[in-house]
Amino acid sequence: MGKIYLVGSGPGDPGLITVKGIEILRKSDVVIYDKLIPKEILSYCKGDAELIYYGKGIGDASLQDKINELLVRKAKEKEIVTRLKGGDPYVFGRGEEECVYAAEHGIECEVIPGITSAIAVPAYAGIPVTSRWFSSGFTVITGTRAEGSPINLDYVPKKGTLIILMGVERIDEIRKELLKVRSGDVPVAIIENGTTKSQRVFISTLDRLHITAKDNDIRPPAIILVGEVIELRNKLWKIS
Ligand code: SAH
Repeated sequence: MGKIYLVGSGPGDPGLITVKGIEILRKSDVVIYDKLIPKEILSYCKGDAELIYYGKGIGDASLQDKINELLVRKAKEKEIVTRLKGGDPYVFGRGEEECVYAAEHGIECEVIPGITSAIAVPAYAGIPVTSRWFSSGFTVITGTRAEGSPINLDYVPKKGTLIILMGVERIDEIRKELLKVRSGDVPVAIIENGTTKSQRVFISTLDRLHITAKDNDIRPPAIILVGEVIELRNKLWKIS
């Protein structure tokens, strides 16, 4: 019986995978990878490793069962099977489901955390998620829920930094919901393809969020960040 490693690839810049993540890739017999990983890091894999692309888009939720089954099947055939996921496997990555499924089938599963896009993408855009001047906390939420509103307002803080993942598809509805809790003039950043060479950053306000997204044809993957920490942008390092 083999072992499964759940490895976080980091947010996009190929240099942001961990040393431990690279070590695991080097010895893996099978690597099942997601859509959002930096493809360059696949070059760490052994020449005879089996590389399988299994990415989910929004609305492909049923694929998860197939991925779980594939992981377990491969772990029964080979020694080291790696599931490589964008960012961190446990931040909206459904890595916990894969680990639980593996455990239920008697297969050991170890997680190698990754740098999540929720923090690194703002950082590369010059935005710290906390700041003693502006925000004593940050919240990360999903902007895609299967039923009802795309966001759950119970998770939206009245103050501080709010980071929304998977929010681009339903940006109009998200804006309307957020306006119930935050004021229209709060700064908002939209960051597309963060930490990569094709990174784009747009600064707006909550009032104008939907217009900024539309005018600039924002596409996934993108992060929406709400909060005063955006004021610090341009004083800090960023990809130009
Ligand atoms: N586990 C991942 C998140 C998976 S959900 C992590 O920890 O980063 C996928 C969402 O993450 C995307 O819809 C987008 O909102 C965000 N995301 C991932 N990579 C990104 C990138 N390079 N730039 C902007 N957003 C990104």
